[in-house]
Amino acid sequence: MSSPNASSVITRFAPSPTGFLHIGGARTALFNWAYARGRQGKMLLRIEDTDRERSTEAAIVAILDGLKWLGLTWDGEAVSQYARADRHREVANELLKRGKAYYCYCTPQELEAMRAKAEAEKRPIRYDGTWRDRDPSTAPAGVKPVIRFKAPQEGETVIEDNAQGRVVIPNKDLDDLIILRSDGNPTYNLSVVVDDHDMGISHIIRGVDHLTNAARQTQIYLAMGWQVPSMTHVPLIHGPDGAKLSKRHGALGVEAYRAMGYLPAALRNYLARLGWSHGDEEIFTTEQLVEWFDLKALGKSASRFDFAKLENLNGHYIRHTPDAELLQHLLAFMPFAEGGPALLARTDDAMKSKLLKAMPGLKERAKTLVELLKGAAFLYAARPLPMDDKARQIVADGGIATLAALTPVLAGTTEWTAPALEAAVKAHAEQTGIKLGKFAQPLRAALTGTSTSPGIFDVLDVLGREESLARIADLTKD
Ligand code: GLU
Repeated sequence: MSSPNASSVITRFAPSPTGFLHIGGARTALFNWAYARGRQGKMLLRIEDTDRERSTEAAIVAILDGLKWLGLTWDGEAVSQYARADRHREVANELLKRGKAYYCYCTPQELEAMRAKAEAEKRPIRYDGTWRDRDPSTAPAGVKPVIRFKAPQEGETVIEDNAQGRVVIPNKDLDDLIILRSDGNPTYNLSVVVDDHDMGISHIIRGVDHLTNAARQTQIYLAMGWQVPSMTHVPLIHGPDGAKLSKRHGALGVEAYRAMGYLPAALRNYLARLGWSHGDEEIFTTEQLVEWFDLKALGKSASRFDFAKLENLNGHYIRHTPDAELLQHLLAFMPFAEGGPALLARTDDAMKSKLLKAMPGLKERAKTLVELLKGAAFLYAARPLPMDDKARQIVADGGIATLAALTPVLAGTTEWTAPALEAAVKAHAEQTGIKLGKFAQPLRAALTGTSTSPGIFDVLDVLGREESLARIADLTKD
């Protein structure tokens, strides 16, 4: 088959705003986005807000926010499914006119009896077609009817799925679906078909949990004489142990990943590899993803979410992001970090310069922005510095004497730069016969209050002469 016409590709992401943008939804959005972008097509956004009880404005905001943070842009305004209910009703009536749907007057009691009978006979629960061919003039008075789709009873419904292959569902397994409730509200499968058709969707890419819906939806397309879009049902994401994804495994909203300090580019890269591959490529740019992404390369089996892998990948991205850009990420991250807003409030231009200067050393040690910010904490620390246990131990174990001996050496260094300071301390080490390494830990404890930090001469350099000597003096002065 030849690839579709460049401009004819229109995909959509269609979240239900009943919760945040969870990680599976984010991956679905990414695939729709990459497929459209790689073909000069469009990705539309439809908010499936017909469930009025469970849909919330806060969830809509969170979903849009999550997509924006992930860098997944959509074309045009987001469409509200609920706002299109009139059009859905119109199509339900059109199906009635075409003889592809009918009024059903079954009472709740009758439906309950149907259910009980099926259960007793150990059959799947299906509508038994009571009103399928009955004359509506025999309808009982006072019962508001629903409209049911007249599903084909013979043969089978076939979905040529790009990920699942040819899926064949016997029509006897699909009963006559309600498409319009007695209160006039359209039901889910009708709304989805009408919207996808009206929005000109050429490719539907979504989770495999919608495969049965796809069969029902296909029947509605055919009944309306509409072209069925190309279908792709992506396998689910499981936990590292192969079980259904739980919260502990990463079934969280995208905003949780932002707060855990992942870079959007790293998360895009990681999500793309869940269910899709391009040869052996593990690390690729978003441009490469857009160029390479193809529905044919989607696997059939569930993929496994692995936090350790995501974290390593994120570390790679952090190390390879230019310092100034990483600083922007760090600043954008601070409002969501624990204690971050207070630090952000103290981040003036001078602090930004310090962060930038420290960045090469900081980013070597951080797999997440949480770790990066933690590593940068020494820049913000106020004197006298709070010490962690290890730092306190280092100071107690002869650290003070080392620092006292070192103070005139540092103070006498005319040029306060990392190389000059290193040269001075080295010379002092040679003179005294003390190993250079012996100086590092007490200095680190005094300057950062911890036992891990970027290279100690870089730390001295970033903090500056006055602040460095003052931090040391806080420990040695009495
Ligand atoms: N609203 C559905 C969901 O959030 C998606 C429906 C679709 O993609 O067709 O699972």
